[in-house]
Amino acid sequence: MSAAKSFCRAGRIGFCFGVRRTVRMAQEILARTGRLTSIGEIVHNPQVMEGLVRRGLRVVSSPEEVGAEDFLVRSHGLAPQVVEEIRRRGAVISDGVCPRVKKLQTLISVLDTSGFSVIIVGDRTHPEVKACMGFGRRVEVCPPGGAVSRLPASARAAIVGQTTLSFDEYLRSVRAIVDRLSAPCVRVFNTICRVTEERQAAARELSGRVQTVLVLGGRQSANTRKLYEICKAVNPRTFHVESLSDLAAFPLSGVRSIGLTSGTSTAEEFIRAVAEHLRKNGYEEVPGYAK
Ligand code: SF4
Repeated sequence: MSAAKSFCRAGRIGFCFGVRRTVRMAQEILARTGRLTSIGEIVHNPQVMEGLVRRGLRVVSSPEEVGAEDFLVRSHGLAPQVVEEIRRRGAVISDGVCPRVKKLQTLISVLDTSGFSVIIVGDRTHPEVKACMGFGRRVEVCPPGGAVSRLPASARAAIVGQTTLSFDEYLRSVRAIVDRLSAPCVRVFNTICRVTEERQAAARELSGRVQTVLVLGGRQSANTRKLYEICKAVNPRTFHVESLSDLAAFPLSGVRSIGLTSGTSTAEEFIRAVAEHLRKNGYEEVPGYAK
């Protein structure tokens, strides 16, 4: 199928199952009680957060601000010490941690009790990594492509990765770390979420087939920013669109083919609104086309 002006969506787009599950939990609690608290944003997406806040979500930044009320642990998780403090303060806690992130937390905890020092390859400022650091007593963080500041001195070391890294990026970091480790026993775990890998591959493929790529999602969303970098490397006409006002400012003149992709925290409603905007501007949705 061909069209004079057309757009198509990448094979993987919209919420991943982990984010969908957490947002649904928040919506159900809010429908029941009209009030819910979380530490930090439940997902890194302004439209989704605005919708939840309108229904009664209160976002705070520390456990001291939580009382005896309904509380949701976000998809990125929280350190166990923080959850314990919230429990002590009388909150009714619902666990919205993504099952993949939960698996990583449990792994770190098991490795720690088995005497391993754990190196997390990831961004130490990202909420998932911050939470994971609380699951072991000997945890170091190594930024992808960077150097681990303090190498563990113990005889047994384990390497795990932030779930949203690209697999290649993780492997490169693992090689660099293993080269520098003196521990005789090093175990490496594949903790990368396949959802992220599949989405990046679909976006890369789409970027090579269209004139312009629109990456939909929050600017705070690490996986959306990563998708943007991947698409931009293939197609220089790649733009990050966080809101409909970004889109209104986007020059469509002369653009015949547009590809849409999104981060894992971008809601279907926003993707539908972008598609509607493109249709109003004369674009027809197609499953795929040549440049
Ligand atoms: S990207 Fe993967 S790990 Fe992250 S929330 Fe989604 S399903 Fe979970």
